[in-house]
Amino acid sequence: MRELRFKSADELAHAYILVSPSTEERGRAAETLAAAILCSAQGSVPCGRCRDCRKVREGIHPDLIRVSRLSDDKGKQKREIMIDQIRAVVTDSVVLPNEASRKVYLIEDADTMNIPAQNAALKLLEEPPKSVYFLLCAANAQMLLETVRSRCAEIVCSAREDEPDAEACRLAEEFVKRCAEGDEAALFRWCAANEGLDGTAAAKVCDCVCALLRDMLCRRKSPLGMSERQVYELEQLTERCLGMLKMNVSVKHVFGLLAVDGIRE
Ligand SMILES: [Zn+2]
Repeated sequence: MRELRFKSADELAHAYILVSPSTEERGRAAETLAAAILCSAQGSVPCGRCRDCRKVREGIHPDLIRVSRLSDDKGKQKREIMIDQIRAVVTDSVVLPNEASRKVYLIEDADTMNIPAQNAALKLLEEPPKSVYFLLCAANAQMLLETVRSRCAEIVCSAREDEPDAEACRLAEEFVKRCAEGDEAALFRWCAANEGLDGTAAAKVCDCVCALLRDMLCRRKSPLGMSERQVYELEQLTERCLGMLKMNVSVKHVFGLLAVDGIRE
């Protein structure tokens, strides 16, 4: 899956369709995108640290509104999202956000919207109120009207598509561990031992390091004793290095930088 991170909130589209056969995977992608939209940090989003990112993560952000299929009298989930539910979104969408500068409607199983509901959604997607964003999660985007799809940026979140490179992940873990331990000599040796990687392989390692550190910031992984600030700074450093590698700066130079700046007070 494409890395869901944006240089600034201005890069975001007003509506996304997140496609995956896995509910969990769609949900994860939606959470990241919602955080990116609501994040209050300057610069790249989601930052993972601000109040808005935290609240999205904890599922308590008042400006992230979820729409899902209703249940019938027996508590069984209905098969479709009905037009009344979308009409309620239309009405609610003109109300200003509570806390953030934007608000997000996350439509779960958007591919179960029936045709009237989709047509109602279409009007909203054509002329979304200012500062309103839509995330449509779908197992099968083909179930959505072409007119709806054409209004949205589509993101396919299939984990299998870019299985992370096992070797790159191993090296990334080694790198982060050395930084976390604060062992400068070991970090230096690691950087020297790997500066012979080609640019692509080195970029993959940096990518894995960034992913690992973001997992730490989101508390999906243990920060190995590093403070949040350390994790954040290391993530920023690695992202800078990744940018340099993409500009064809030599691996030796970039890994030299990681060796020098990887450990900070
Ligand atoms: Zn944030």
